[in-house]
Amino acid sequence: MSISTPVLCEAFDAVLAVDDLDAPPTPSVTSVLDTLLGMGCPCRFPRFVYVVGSDFHDFHTGPVSCHDTENLVRASHYGSSAFLEAREPWRDVSFSGHRSHKCRVCGADWELISDEYSINMYRSYLALRSRHLPDLGAEVLFPFPIAGGFRGVDATDIQTCAQGFTRTQSFKRTPLDEVLAYLARPR
Ligand SMILES: [Zn+2]
Repeated sequence: MSISTPVLCEAFDAVLAVDDLDAPPTPSVTSVLDTLLGMGCPCRFPRFVYVVGSDFHDFHTGPVSCHDTENLVRASHYGSSAFLEAREPWRDVSFSGHRSHKCRVCGADWELISDEYSINMYRSYLALRSRHLPDLGAEVLFPFPIAGGFRGVDATDIQTCAQGFTRTQSFKRTPLDEVLAYLARPR
């Protein structure tokens, strides 16, 4: 089919990345947590650490959030697959909410950072501060597949932050499987 040519795939993905308010929720990406916990713990998988640590400040843009990051951060500390427990109440640091967490499995220290810019523009990420055990997972390679899209207030900012990530939602047979396999690949 002509619609599956690479050029059209790229255009379609670009539209999805910008028109992000209509991006579907991606709760099932959180199923990777049970897989990683079955192999050890998520702290030891660099690809997981990278995606939950995605921070638009690294790209020098205005606020941008990634659906996969938001879903995985939430599931890491809340719900049936949560592996992090809070070690202190929320603190305010330069208008951001910060809260220290510890991995129940390996004892690694994480910091959850959360910002709210408006009623529908917020983001959070997890920064791995220290850990004690070596990697079990493969190194980060680009392009980095994600199941969801990005949200932001500026299309150029979204495109800047989305560089290096590829949505696997379109024109692929088993998109979520590809994301889950990437995140859980052993080293
Ligand atoms: Zn851990």
